[in-house]
Amino acid sequence: MAVTAQAIPMRSDNYAWLLTESITGKVAMVDPADGPAAIAAVEAAGGRLDMILLTHHHDDHIGGVPALLSRYQPVVVGNGMDAERLPKLDIATHEGDLVDFGAAKIRVIDTPAHTSGHISYYIADGGILLPGDTMFSLGCGRLFEGTAEDMFRALRKFDDLPGETLICAGHEYTQSNARFACHVDPGNEALRARSGQVDALRAAGRPTLPVSLASERECNPFLRAPDAQVLGNLRAAKDNF
Ligand code: ZN
Ligand code: FE
Repeated sequence: MAVTAQAIPMRSDNYAWLLTESITGKVAMVDPADGPAAIAAVEAAGGRLDMILLTHHHDDHIGGVPALLSRYQPVVVGNGMDAERLPKLDIATHEGDLVDFGAAKIRVIDTPAHTSGHISYYIADGGILLPGDTMFSLGCGRLFEGTAEDMFRALRKFDDLPGETLICAGHEYTQSNARFACHVDPGNEALRARSGQVDALRAAGRPTLPVSLASERECNPFLRAPDAQVLGNLRAAKDNF
């Protein structure tokens, strides 16, 4: 696999993702929330940053961009339809675009729901999905600018991806998501096993991500919702859980 992804914890519960393309050595960072933490991670990985990928405009996903730009010369990639709310884009993407990242291609998937301009990135050569705040382990993003219908449609866009795809999401929300998931789906054995694994990882101070899409398909109640109405009911229940 040419591309690997490393979780970089920042702020209280954000993950930026450091992507490395092994053939050319190119390095990218997805959703840098915090400048100093992002720079420390880039330096630890060799002091090179070729690209910044943004999933959406919230400050906890773009806050570290100015600091990275003042130190490195990365190209900034984001949704052209949401350019006015994003840092200045060098590559303004649209649905289905393939962005060159060394020897690999990064596919742009429009996933409007959490925000109207939210996009996700998929890297086949590495089996990596970067869903930002669209999907978390055992959960999905809040519906700030979209409807349950939008979120249902966004999640369906991941249906054709291989089960071994690694989900590299924007937040460490898994433990609280697991409590809600077990509450609404108490008979799910795979979910119970995942929940136990999550507790052990957090007790050891380790990230619960990435997780495989196959595991999420077994355990994530939002991904498993059969229609938009069920998803909307789950989302509303989670908001008040
Ligand atoms: Zn957000
Ligand atoms: Fe966020």
